[in-house]
Amino acid sequence: MNRSVSTESQPAGTTVFALMSSLLDAVDKPLLVTDRGGRILFANLHAQDSLGCKPTEEGVQPNLFRDILHVDAKGLFGQLERGEQEVDLPVDSATGRARARIRWLPEPDWLVVFAEPALVEAPVDQDQMRRTVKDLLQEREITYRNLLAAYLRLQEVNRQKTVFLGSAAHELKTPLAVMKGYYDLLLSESLGHLTEKQRDILQESKQSCDRLVRLVSTFLNYTALESGKLVLQFQDNDIKDCMNDVAIRWKETFRRANVQFEVIMGEKLPIFKFDYPKVQQCITNLVDNALKHTPVGGKVILRAETHFWERRVVPTTPSKERRSARRPQSNSVMISVSDTGVGIAAEYHQEIFEDFVRVDPSSSGMGLGLAITKRLIQAHHGKIWVDSELGRGSSFKFLLPMKVEAYSYA
Ligand code: ADP
Repeated sequence: MNRSVSTESQPAGTTVFALMSSLLDAVDKPLLVTDRGGRILFANLHAQDSLGCKPTEEGVQPNLFRDILHVDAKGLFGQLERGEQEVDLPVDSATGRARARIRWLPEPDWLVVFAEPALVEAPVDQDQMRRTVKDLLQEREITYRNLLAAYLRLQEVNRQKTVFLGSAAHELKTPLAVMKGYYDLLLSESLGHLTEKQRDILQESKQSCDRLVRLVSTFLNYTALESGKLVLQFQDNDIKDCMNDVAIRWKETFRRANVQFEVIMGEKLPIFKFDYPKVQQCITNLVDNALKHTPVGGKVILRAETHFWERRVVPTTPSKERRSARRPQSNSVMISVSDTGVGIAAEYHQEIFEDFVRVDPSSSGMGLGLAITKRLIQAHHGKIWVDSELGRGSSFKFLLPMKVEAYSYA
């Protein structure tokens, strides 16, 4: 078998050259090195076989530019000296069309040439491609329709489930009201004297009954909101009365739980239009949660104050009035319920306002209280959020605009 050719004079038996040749022969691509004139200095076995770099029988050495690449050396060097790392040229090889990748080594001023099979571009079958694209589009359309149908089915099942649970909850209302009435009757002692023990048991049973009533009414509210049946009754109301009602109702429960309960009303709280029972329900939900998550000895503060809510809205107030109002005037009431309880980790601050979300699954409740509260407040064009730190308590705040109709959203 031929060894690699080299036209350089080489000391006979030079082991380094022999080793290099063997190594380059092991490269599975044709590789050759020439000088600037295209004279072949070295060609491995693959190059000899496929590019025809062997000397002719008359001993004439082939030239890279003239006999192999069939190009003008000047043009090629022009490209390489302008900074091109590598020049790709087509070349004929024993196995068919190939591409020669030519690099220039400036220091010895040599050219290194690798040959690779040319990339064969498969002829594009336009019809086949059109069919494939059409099939893909059809498949996508079918998947989309199936997904839509499945989504609509799920939505319907969900709606039916809500309706069913809503009517079940509705059925519970009457027996619970009857039970509650009997507890009150027994506790009033009009049917006979109660021992201390009997009174405690009845009191506890009544509290459980109250919890159930609240749960049922929460669920009924949720189903009403879900089915779009909720209609707010906006009337001129006093927020102080609304808060006092809640405070009176919860006073005893807080006393028994050994948690301090304070109500702070800001000055000049105005009379403005809101749905009294719905806002009361929002406050109740927040107070209930605060008590539930505050340990014995803790404190809950319910506070209301006027507030300037700067929001991105277009005021529809006449421009003359706007000019006279230099100082930002209160345009909303902020109600907050703060506690010294367990607090809520930051990653739940948004999530807790979604349906059925409970941070602590062991706590009582369905994870609906805050979701309902948020919807009711949004129906008032207000907003709700929480400031809280784990282990340091929470402060739920909501804003109710005093004049909903004075703004239109930008
Ligand atoms: P639930 O009716 O189950 O209490 P909510 O929607 O009212 O549901 O509250 C959702 C979750 O938010 C609760 O499960 C609780 O983990 C958390 N949470 C609400 N209020 C407080 C609070 N004041 N302190 C700590 N965690 C709270």
